[in-house]
Amino acid sequence: MKKITRNTKAKAEILKFIIEANRAVSHTDIQKSLGGICDRVTIYRVLERLTDEKSVHRIVNVDGVINYAPCHSCSSHHTHNHVHFSCITCKELSCLENNEISLSLPEGYFFKEAFLTVSGICKNCSSHG
Ligand SMILES: [Zn+2]
Ligand SMILES: [Zn+2]
Ligand SMILES: [Zn+2]
Repeated sequence: MKKITRNTKAKAEILKFIIEANRAVSHTDIQKSLGGICDRVTIYRVLERLTDEKSVHRIVNVDGVINYAPCHSCSSHHTHNHVHFSCITCKELSCLENNEISLSLPEGYFFKEAFLTVSGICKNCSSHG
């Protein structure tokens, strides 16, 4: 009983954090932000569930670390096929939502999902010189 309440709370907190972050967040970011109200395993399970429920998207960063971003506007299908930008200075991972990935595949191949993460310096860091 107590456990269920805690997981529900954790889920709400994690989703809120991802939505408000304004960038993609990693497991570590989430764990830090929650200030220890739940352990790694709980966070992992909550993230799995949020992904299944199509509330968040999983993004693989340049270093192979999985990050999470909120689902904004997937209507018919839940995809996140745009370019992601990983800043080498502040380490933030942003969604470049206007840069949709499109590929022309050979006949017989069907596109489902693509992950493309670009590494460089983001607009915040470049404007600080
Ligand atoms: Zn989505
Ligand atoms: Zn930056
Ligand atoms: Zn994105």
